[in-house]
Amino acid sequence: MSENDGLIIALSKGRIYKETLPLLRHAGIELVDDPDTSRKLILDTNDDTVKVLILRATDVPTYVQYGAADVGVAGKDVLMEHGGEGLYEPLDLKIACCKLMTAGRKGEQDVMPGRRLRVATKFVNSTRRFYASRGEQVEIIKLYGSMELAPLVGLADRIVDVVDTGNTLRANGLEPFEHIADISSRLIVNKAAMKMKHARVKALIDQISEAVVSALRTG
Ligand code: AMP
Repeated sequence: MSENDGLIIALSKGRIYKETLPLLRHAGIELVDDPDTSRKLILDTNDDTVKVLILRATDVPTYVQYGAADVGVAGKDVLMEHGGEGLYEPLDLKIACCKLMTAGRKGEQDVMPGRRLRVATKFVNSTRRFYASRGEQVEIIKLYGSMELAPLVGLADRIVDVVDTGNTLRANGLEPFEHIADISSRLIVNKAAMKMKHARVKALIDQISEAVVSALRTG
């Protein structure tokens, strides 16, 4: 790796991709390919030396950790699960904001003392840490999606999920109970790339940081 090498940026499809595009544009990076119409997983940009990888959200920190991508954008929910090893997290992009919360059936916040709660979630590590910090022992059931279903069919007493408007919970007769963490997307950087490609990565961080400030100012 050297200053002359290219820059590889890891993104996930959907909300993060859409909200990151204007920030990259501010840094002079325009995508040539559109992931919604192209099946390519390595996208070209207007700069021959910059490529964008389109990954599953939970894989973004892994690609950056191992240096397969130099930088990436990942939600704090995903980073909390990953643990952050091998990564710097220099910038809060203030996009894709939501909250990590516990939720359950409406009106069923109180539980019988001494009864061990069953909690369904894909955020196993964050859930374990949250209940451990309160001295509560819970049984965690790992799911990969549609967490809202679990309390409705008796699979679990609680779910831990990201909540934005709360509409998905409400539509399923659930309500949010405890707030675990505020979530937003972060710029992450491979630790070796931060050293070996310092000028390039630093310039990118500075330009994106400017874009975040001006986006906040203009609302
Ligand atoms: P809402 O109905 O607005 O509370 O949105 C809840 C659903 O949208 C959740 O089940 C998530 O799957 C998804 N969601 C909302 N915001 C985010 C976000 N910032 N990052 C990832 N998923 C999100």
